[in-house]
Amino acid sequence: MTEPRRPLVAGNWKMNCLSADGIALAKKVAKHVTSSGTNTEVAICPPYTLLGDIKAALAGSDVRLGAQDCHAAEKGAHTGDISVAMLADVGCAMIIVGHSERRSDHGEDDALVRAKAVAAQAGGMTAIICIGETETERDAGQTLQVVTGQLRGSVPEGATSANTVIAYEPVWAIGTGRTPTIDDVQVVHAAIRSALGKRFGDAMAAATRVLYGGSMKPSNAAEFVALADVDGGLIGGASLNVGDFSAIIDACGS
Ligand code: PEP
Repeated sequence: MTEPRRPLVAGNWKMNCLSADGIALAKKVAKHVTSSGTNTEVAICPPYTLLGDIKAALAGSDVRLGAQDCHAAEKGAHTGDISVAMLADVGCAMIIVGHSERRSDHGEDDALVRAKAVAAQAGGMTAIICIGETETERDAGQTLQVVTGQLRGSVPEGATSANTVIAYEPVWAIGTGRTPTIDDVQVVHAAIRSALGKRFGDAMAAATRVLYGGSMKPSNAAEFVALADVDGGLIGGASLNVGDFSAIIDACGS
């Protein structure tokens, strides 16, 4: 029998929060997670500048610290970049790679995303690897082709259920308030799991968490996470509000 997958809810703060707001928010999230006793694994991914402060704010709770990106190289002449070892040093356990905003704002392609995921995994981190189609691709009926292609290109050979989480984030749903239908989400998640199974084996596919991301909020989280192949969420806007983020955490767990 396959073990049930533990739900994961990760908050991606993007380029938001200064120290006072960030620390206060992280402390409230930590308090909620501790007092509610939820079985949802929770992570907060603040901007680099706040990682140390948020690590301290989360002390004594089970909330994990994550980063929003990393450089693929171990160290060296990469002005403005941050290595996996630096992120480990400040207490990160997870790194988001391949977010659509990095793919579009910084021209990151699958090969670079894969190199970052390799570096993250080699450094003992869980890589949260983001994939998702644009609206044009969806309208052209290419969603599954795009998503499975990104999966092939971005997920390293050494992926395991412990060092890899996949986040399916339709680009057109991020920050827009729009979401795919429940049926569409399940179809894509099932295709992702099936593709993982073909490449890494059924046991890995059955144990690997596949998150949904894109305008997840308290009012829709429960129906997304009730789907057979959805194991939690990558949350942008709603992770900046403790009430909304806590409600999503509760909806995803028990
Ligand atoms: C995201 O950017 O990963 C995201 C899911 O954003 P939002 O929840 O705001 O749509």
